[in-house]
Amino acid sequence: MDDGRLERILAEMRRRGFRLTPQRVALVRYIIANVENHESLREIHEKVSRSVPGISVSTVYHTLKLLEDIGVIKTFELEGRIHVDRPHLHLNIYCRDDGRVVDLELGEGEILSLLKSMGLTPRNIIVESETCPPSLAARGREGGRR
Ligand SMILES: [Zn+2]
Repeated sequence: MDDGRLERILAEMRRRGFRLTPQRVALVRYIIANVENHESLREIHEKVSRSVPGISVSTVYHTLKLLEDIGVIKTFELEGRIHVDRPHLHLNIYCRDDGRVVDLELGEGEILSLLKSMGLTPRNIIVESETCPPSLAARGREGGRR
């Protein structure tokens, strides 16, 4: 990640009265660097705890909410868990096979046009799927086993 971007995010957080301890800076850096992985609040807490012992789930939660307010991430709930996502509108494929969430970029295609024609303003689109492209690719490598 470019440090200029991180610095701008941290400056905005400070401006909003967020107290930036070195631990919280490490947390913000981790969240921003891993945003495309759709990690859950618990996963982020678990991973950041390895380098920042003692950081609370509540700190992670409030940091996510502030980053979402600033507009650098988006959060969504899936099966009762909060997940991090990139802020722009795209399609998230939730794979029932391996549990991961994979992004699919949306152009001004049919789904988006349909939703907009209904007067809706979608903030996230999640498709629950029996499989996902990486899962299919892995199966292909195993010789097409189903
Ligand atoms: Zn996504």
